[in-house]
Amino acid sequence: SASAPASSGSSPSRRSPSGSASTTPDPSDPSDPSDPRIVVVGSINADLSTRVARHPQPGETLHGTGGEVRPGGKGANQAAAAALQGGAVAMVGAVGDDAMASDALSVLSSSGADLSAVHQVDGPTGLAVVTVSDDGENTIVVVPGANATMNAARVRESGDLIAGAGVVVLQGEIPRDGIEEAARRTRGRLILNPAPVLELDRDVLLRADPLVVNEHEAALVLDLLEEHAGSSPAPEDLAHALHTAGIESLVITLGAEGALVGGSGADGEPQSDKAWSLVRVPAVTVRAVDTTGAGDAFVGSLAVRLAEGASLVDAARFATRVSAASVTREGAQTSYPRRGEELPGA
Ligand code: ADP
Repeated sequence: SASAPASSGSSPSRRSPSGSASTTPDPSDPSDPSDPRIVVVGSINADLSTRVARHPQPGETLHGTGGEVRPGGKGANQAAAAALQGGAVAMVGAVGDDAMASDALSVLSSSGADLSAVHQVDGPTGLAVVTVSDDGENTIVVVPGANATMNAARVRESGDLIAGAGVVVLQGEIPRDGIEEAARRTRGRLILNPAPVLELDRDVLLRADPLVVNEHEAALVLDLLEEHAGSSPAPEDLAHALHTAGIESLVITLGAEGALVGGSGADGEPQSDKAWSLVRVPAVTVRAVDTTGAGDAFVGSLAVRLAEGASLVDAARFATRVSAASVTREGAQTSYPRRGEELPGA
């Protein structure tokens, strides 16, 4: 299939994605721990959202409302959240050659993110068709489209970009071998948000710093690691079991309950001598309008603070504020706040 950069931005390895040359780290030292660059390797979708009074039966046609096409995909959402918060972000992904491609990239392309590693391939852009009924239940059909081309060979083309990043962010919406390739090329910090959970090699899961999962995903990752936390475990039990399985650094997001952060010295107590501990970070109380993409806002903003050198707990506190702002507005990327905008919470 044909491949051309979706935008003609300058090479991200020579200029920082935000365009400011002064913060560009030495590209000959890809492991520079102060490297502020964030590379997101993942999915890019157009989300087509409709509302109905009730879901149609097979063979039935109903009238609905809505029909907006909004940018989505977990990779693009996280990249947009990070770029809008001032992160120096480069996106590695693919869109198709259809009209949905520009819808899928509409927020990202104005966010300041570098899109020169976004390929345009033959065929459709990733598409999520969402139907929400009046009782709040939704059905979603995801057509991977161009995202299915993000295999190991395609990811390898961005190997230097990935190896040179201070922070690499991965999700579960591109092929397994593409995710694993990106993880293994990472020399900086790997934020791994395996959502949806797919089978990944153990060594890839154990590279996560942090692993970011919701409660449901935490249980599935535990299964992959052949560890168990008992029946109907509390989030704390899930976190401890993940740590027992070898995950050193983790965040379990808990929706309106906030997040649980686990890591060495996570409690910030000097006398704890960097012992592994868990810290509960409360959510910021807001009136929730639409929680779509809240988890992605969390991951993207977490990446920005970690790239700036913050502790995992401080980064998670910031991420709860950015994700809280996102739930007060409709949509995923369309709901994300920009840097400088006042955020809810302390
Ligand atoms: P996911 O959508 O991936 O399951 P969560 O629902 O756990 O993720 O949400 C991610 C983060 O977004 C939470 O940790 C929390 O900080 C924030 N968040 C989600 N829902 C709300 C809400 N109703 N009010 C405030 N913050 C929220």
